[in-house]
Amino acid sequence: MPHFAEGIARFQREVFPAKAGLFARLASDHRPGTLFIGCSDARVVPELITQTDPGELFVIRTAGNLVPAHTPGGDGVTAAVEYAVTVLGVRDVVVCGHSACGAMTALAEGHDLSAAPAVAAWLRHADASLARAAAGGTGAGTVDVAALVRENVAAQLANLATHPSVARALAAGEVRLHGWVFDIADGTVEELPAAASPALAA
Ligand SMILES: [Zn+2]
Repeated sequence: MPHFAEGIARFQREVFPAKAGLFARLASDHRPGTLFIGCSDARVVPELITQTDPGELFVIRTAGNLVPAHTPGGDGVTAAVEYAVTVLGVRDVVVCGHSACGAMTALAEGHDLSAAPAVAAWLRHADASLARAAAGGTGAGTVDVAALVRENVAAQLANLATHPSVARALAAGEVRLHGWVFDIADGTVEELPAAASPALAA
């Protein structure tokens, strides 16, 4: 990983000094305004897309930008959502899907995931997304990947709203949910209309 050492050296030499005041403040202050939930895909970089500074986004990245619906017991995603909403008090939550998503493509095209059982199990959290995209398709047995990406953002927003921390903040009008789709090829970010998601319309 030789380029990492080079990158860190360049960060310390050129980037950090230019933001020294910001980092000095952030050293004892963590108050991000937005929870950004995106895909783990290496091409979807939240801070780059939104041109935000360190300290602005609390980020969760999962395969397929999936947020499992709330279940008792808790897990890493639930804990991060709860921490962002209840402890940090973020005012906005973004779920961002993207073009050419490997997870959504595997689902839409019915890829054989028997060699990746954990991936297959994780993607079951997109079952509702897949069902909705299939219902809206041609009925020919195939699902359009772009349509699934959009349905999946809406479904994950609905899943988010099942988390007590989010439900509480929504009821109190303390948080707003947003659904985005990032296009890797042209750099556009489409904000899905509120009507596309029950969670957004609520
Ligand atoms: Zn993806």
